[in-house]
Amino acid sequence: MRKKTIDDIQVTNKRVLIRVDYNVPLENGKVANDLRIRKSLPTIKKLLSDSNALVLMSHLGRPGGKVDPKLSLAPVAKHLSKLLGQEVKFVNDCVGDDVNKAVDSLKPGEVMLLENVRFYPGEKKNSDDFAKKLARHGEVFVNDAFSVCHRAHASVVGVPKFLRPAVAGYLLQSEIKHLGMFLDDPARPFVAVIGGAKVSTKIGVFKNLLPRVDKILVGGGMSFTFFSAWGLEVGKSLVEENSFQTATEIFNLSEELGGRMLLPVDILVAKELDPNSPVKTVPYDHIPKNWIGVDIGQATIQLYTDEILKAKSVFMNGPMGIFEIKPFSEGTRAILEAMAEVASKGNVAVVGGGDSAAAAYELGFADMMTHISTGGGASLEFMEGKELPGISVLDDAD
Ligand code: ADP
Ligand code: MG
Repeated sequence: MRKKTIDDIQVTNKRVLIRVDYNVPLENGKVANDLRIRKSLPTIKKLLSDSNALVLMSHLGRPGGKVDPKLSLAPVAKHLSKLLGQEVKFVNDCVGDDVNKAVDSLKPGEVMLLENVRFYPGEKKNSDDFAKKLARHGEVFVNDAFSVCHRAHASVVGVPKFLRPAVAGYLLQSEIKHLGMFLDDPARPFVAVIGGAKVSTKIGVFKNLLPRVDKILVGGGMSFTFFSAWGLEVGKSLVEENSFQTATEIFNLSEELGGRMLLPVDILVAKELDPNSPVKTVPYDHIPKNWIGVDIGQATIQLYTDEILKAKSVFMNGPMGIFEIKPFSEGTRAILEAMAEVASKGNVAVVGGGDSAAAAYELGFADMMTHISTGGGASLEFMEGKELPGISVLDDAD
């Protein structure tokens, strides 16, 4: 899966079309969280310093293939101007004569952001005609939007059909490097922490990682589907009744591999999903009726922390509890803290998944990790071992 990057091709004095992910939250016409924009800066700055003219394209929200002024990228252009300290030109469309003229008049060192590509149905339909109209904006295509690489959309996989070279930007390169490492040749012991709400969304990850890991530590809502499948009482905890078979299969696979999977040994249960709810810690097989499992317990935290601290590489996907409610965030916090310690020793600690990344930022561990993936769905599919169409389509490295 070695792909060419902007460092592999000499790009100077060219018009470069870059697919970025500026799908950022807006509030009152302003960018409310600019993480995704900041993540695109290294690629933009490098290409600008080599005297290129840059045409940026992105989607924002789900306008459903038609113009929705609330989902205009205009506020993003403004914000990017501030971050770059130079004007970012904005055109209120992404294809057509007016846009072509504006794009053709761009000079080296200038930056332009096109309007939301999802204002056209051709984006999601991956229409060749639409892709061709986008592709004419550049002489080189750079994909720096890992989070959409699992989508066969026109601006991701269509454009490179008509525009070469097609290479990875620094953000995409970094994602491939840090996630790919776990699948290629992870430093051992390799520990994966898998949590989150539902086991059904993580089956592929379990199946791909179980044969590769030394340990998988399981937490979060999905634990109760495993317990329930064994016939244990789980009170009012989250259970996916139609995933019992899957849970059993995953557990059996782990047993065949020598018992790589650990499940929580104790659970923090609450009466209600409320920060002021009474709580108590109970053994995994003594969850009282009418209580809800909301986090892993202290003994599990100890057990999992010990495993993580022995590891040379750790991948986490999925929180250990309902971390959005503060008293239920201890398990997730403890895991992230242990991972931060792993990273501080020069070993590898990577967080993937939308909610897990949010937890890492909210709980204050983001800067301490080796890497936090910017892809939710994309990082899951990557860890499932699936080929991401947006990556496959790029030029292979020599
Ligand atoms: P990610 O986006 O990192 O892949 P998921 O989407 O799989 O993670 O799961 C995140 C969600 O799982 C969070 O919203 C969290 O509240 C929920 N969750 C974690 N533990 C539990 C639990 N015990 N019961 C119900 N939901 C849980
Ligand atoms: Mg999620």
